[in-house]
Amino acid sequence: MFSAAALLKNALSGHTGWTPHWRKAAPKPRYDVVIVGGGGHGLATAYYLAKVFGITNVAVLEKGWIGSGNAGRNTTIIRSNYLLPGNIPFYERSMKLWEGLEQDFNFNAMVSQRGVLNLYHSDGQRDAYVRRGNALRLHGVDADLLDRDQVRAMVPMLDFDNARFPIEGGLLQRRGGTARHDAVVWGYARGADRRGVDIVEGCEVTGLRRENGRVVGVETTRGFIGAGTVGLAVAGNTSRLAAMADLRLPIESYVLQAFVSEGIKPLLDTVVTFGAGHFYISQSDKGGLVFGGDLDPFPSYAQRGGLPVAEDVAACAMAVMPMLGRLKILRSWGGIMDMSQDGSPIIDRTPVEGLFLNAGWCYGGFKATPASGWCFAHLLATGELHPDAAALRLDRFSSGRVIDEKGAGATPNLH
Ligand SMILES: Cc1cc2nc3c(=O)[nH]c(=O)nc-3n(C[C@H](O)[C@H](O)[C@H](O)COP(=O)(O)OP(=O)(O)OC[C@H]3O[C@@H](n4cnc5c(N)ncnc54)[C@H](O)[C@@H]3O)c2cc1C
Repeated sequence: MFSAAALLKNALSGHTGWTPHWRKAAPKPRYDVVIVGGGGHGLATAYYLAKVFGITNVAVLEKGWIGSGNAGRNTTIIRSNYLLPGNIPFYERSMKLWEGLEQDFNFNAMVSQRGVLNLYHSDGQRDAYVRRGNALRLHGVDADLLDRDQVRAMVPMLDFDNARFPIEGGLLQRRGGTARHDAVVWGYARGADRRGVDIVEGCEVTGLRRENGRVVGVETTRGFIGAGTVGLAVAGNTSRLAAMADLRLPIESYVLQAFVSEGIKPLLDTVVTFGAGHFYISQSDKGGLVFGGDLDPFPSYAQRGGLPVAEDVAACAMAVMPMLGRLKILRSWGGIMDMSQDGSPIIDRTPVEGLFLNAGWCYGGFKATPASGWCFAHLLATGELHPDAAALRLDRFSSGRVIDEKGAGATPNLH
């Protein structure tokens, strides 16, 4: 338990008295709910199942170690500045949960509401941001349109007079920011474990066993595990798991890369996104600049990216913040994105009885972690879609009620 007394006691004893945050659970023969995938979404689902709905006979099965997928690979940005009515209530629920998360699970997730600033570079783009800002405010979400001077006061080192992409202003969500991704995973794991959830690492699901059309459990590298209900939260591996139940989903897997520079003194105290290309940047508390850009342009299951995108990200960086050219990039990595056909997620039951789906997070699932867990737990516990996630249905692709946030159509690599 983290309390002032425990911190003091352990500080005085050389921090040797802390116990592991979660047990190394061995799988039981059967659970009421089996969640496949020990990323943020799977663990948050287990946490809220236990905490909010009192369902504790739950296992989270993870093929590697928890957080080894996209949860531990993302660039940690949280925000709720979406445009469309199907998305705004869901992401705003997530934002509100972020705001109380550390108190809720009693773990320091380093939630930092340092603001997310989207730059605009033309009058047309400004008008689009005005529309987005108004949509947000109509839903009670904060949004401020800044002019060029206000942006300059916040982030003076940007290239305001770039010949091709001069900066005219920005749309700011002050409540947006960052959170420490690993700590989010650990906090949910700890909270779920304490309520009786088994977190089983090193346990790959290799098959979904069905009887009379209903899923009755999962085949794993550690044997068969029976389940009343199975929930998939496997991000980039969603198509592989769905194929085990003979399902073909409107999801394709692509690699997204991230980069981190050498550590420097505090430079950037907000998150900035370039409006004329795909580039975004923030500074971690260790001092490294963390940035990223576009997807690699072809489907892949490799957890590493190619050089053309690295070059494009570097070019965008130089266009918006030329001083970055003086820095060394220390590390880069990739994660597998579960890109849906309209760029929005899915939290729903599947046509296979007993099998539920949490997927389609594209670039943006980290910020969604709390609401995703809450709404998926609600669905697993009650069988009903949560009102804030009611639009995130699987059948929207066949009924035409897509949530095409970017207006890019059925082109996953453009979302
Ligand atoms: C480079 C990068 C930058 C990003 N930046 C941001 C950002 O700034 N903000 C934001 O909101 N989002 C961001 N994202 C997206 C975000 O990270 C993801 O959408 C989110 O983490 C998905 O969470 P998850 O729990 O669904 O998936 P994951 O964390 O990937 O968890 C799925 C887990 O399932 C496990 N698994 C897969 N197959 C099996 C199996 N057969 N059996 C058992 N376990 C299995 C995997 O090992 C994995 O641990 C970024 C992603 C990347 C890669």
